[in-house]
Amino acid sequence: MTADPVLTLTRDQYLELEKIGLGAFAPLTGFMTEAEFLSVVATMRLPGGAVFSLPVVLDVDAETAAWLQALPVVDLQYGGERVGRLTPRDYFRCDRPAVARQVFGTDDPAHPGVSYFFGLQAVFVGGAVEFTGRSARREIPDELTPRETRDLFQARGWTTVAGFQTRNVPHRAHEYLQRVALEHVDGLFIQPLVGRKRAGDYTPDAVMTGYRALVGQFLPADRVVLGSLSTLMRYAGPREAVFHAIIRRNYGCTHFIVGRDHAGVGSWYGLYDAHELTRRFDGDLGIEILRLHGPYFCPVCDGMVTDKTCPHAGGPEVREVSGTDMRRILSGGEKPDPRLMRPEIVAALAGTALFIED
Ligand SMILES: [Zn+2]
Repeated sequence: MTADPVLTLTRDQYLELEKIGLGAFAPLTGFMTEAEFLSVVATMRLPGGAVFSLPVVLDVDAETAAWLQALPVVDLQYGGERVGRLTPRDYFRCDRPAVARQVFGTDDPAHPGVSYFFGLQAVFVGGAVEFTGRSARREIPDELTPRETRDLFQARGWTTVAGFQTRNVPHRAHEYLQRVALEHVDGLFIQPLVGRKRAGDYTPDAVMTGYRALVGQFLPADRVVLGSLSTLMRYAGPREAVFHAIIRRNYGCTHFIVGRDHAGVGSWYGLYDAHELTRRFDGDLGIEILRLHGPYFCPVCDGMVTDKTCPHAGGPEVREVSGTDMRRILSGGEKPDPRLMRPEIVAALAGTALFIED
């Protein structure tokens, strides 16, 4: 008897399989078939009508696709370990520039999400997956699953929970958004995204260390759960905001915070495009979107404010807090303005590698 045929997954493919298998991408139960892919790209809905805004595909080269076509089922391996099975159902290619224009709003390969999409192997294989269990080689061993967070929220007696997505070391603008949310809901689920990111982004260790310092010292620990989400950053701006909301719904959140330029990169998207797009799906996402304006520090008002609460917006005195600026300051070894980033968090980061290298 010969062993079952095996398809070895890359790290990125494993992470997609894991999220499908854990229910983080529900209602998805496999890698997208062509019908699902085309429907999601064109309408941001699966063929059954459920909102789903981004493709989730398994890419293989043409030779592997031909080999798979003869197989009813294939074992999936990652790092030498069996992690699941795939029932391959269809094999397809797409007009990548046309898809990129719909998904990312551009087909310019200077856009990091577009360039990643263009770099995927030639053929996408769709089909249901059976997930055996998380790989022992996963990078965040204690990452909470959707099942675990749902149980945790219930054990804490929370009926409303706001999810917060971030890729940054905590700064005071994000902290402001978190406090605003905490005024409305029972609990806050801070879930930094720690999947594939670009050189110059914060390391997962820096983000998690910063948040442990924030939650331990400045936010009420009994009202906050700190998790992580090891999935790819896709840089799809507004569509990714919808995707991030769906994921947090699956982890048990009832609310999701969408701030300024959510999942944006460079200046590809308008600052509040994600507010507009999520509004289109109000009542249909299974999670309520808290659309918040980007806070800034106003020395006249003397505090963190937004253009909804301060009349000095756009004035010469206001201090914008962007993750990009914070990165630039920290990478230059400068001490950030304490009104923009807490010194206790900067201190907690001492000795931690801050940025992903090329
Ligand atoms: Zn002001």
